[in-house]
Amino acid sequence: MNWVAWDKVISPGVCLMPGKDSVSWLYDSSGAFSVASVKGKMLRNSSSNSEHVFVWNKLVPKKVGFVTWRAVLGRLPTLDALVRRKLPVSSTLCPICGEVEESIEHVFVSCGIAQTMWSVISLWCKLPAIFLFSFQDVVNPHKFSAFPKEKAKVFQAVCLIATWCLWKRRNALVHSGTLIHVTSLVEEIKIMGFLWIKNRGKKGDLSWEDWCSFRL
Ligand SMILES: [Zn+2]
Repeated sequence: MNWVAWDKVISPGVCLMPGKDSVSWLYDSSGAFSVASVKGKMLRNSSSNSEHVFVWNKLVPKKVGFVTWRAVLGRLPTLDALVRRKLPVSSTLCPICGEVEESIEHVFVSCGIAQTMWSVISLWCKLPAIFLFSFQDVVNPHKFSAFPKEKAKVFQAVCLIATWCLWKRRNALVHSGTLIHVTSLVEEIKIMGFLWIKNRGKKGDLSWEDWCSFRL
């Protein structure tokens, strides 16, 4: 706890005063403890780490954003995570490329299929090539787009859908042996994105042709 007996503190610039000892709560100017001051302190601390805050997007269903949210918290059951939890796995190698240990960063950032997927998406959305350095770059797509606000929100939705689709296909590969083809993966991202942006984004006049050219 951060209770301080003021007249017991001995440090440069502090004078000991005569009188009875007292305690004071540091995070309120009155010195009195309150739940509101604790909440204020917690909010100030969390805002200093805002780049790691996941922003939900109403253009996609909750189940879609859920995958990215869990990945941000490090709670997706990738093989390295299962080993850390002492669960038995036959191999920790990435089930997609089989080259390195599977982790969240690897599945969504550095695995060959992820890199191809992001590069096709950047072409589709008419962005310069996307260079992802960490999973946080997937969560904060506005960092590498100069889209106006509404279009940036749609692009964030595309990134959430891409992450959801890739994880879904990774699971199908692990559990059913279904191979991942990047063309069909990107096609699914486009189709699901079209349905959700058109209906949830109230863009009833959006045509498939415009969507495929990312003309919003
Ligand atoms: Zn891989």
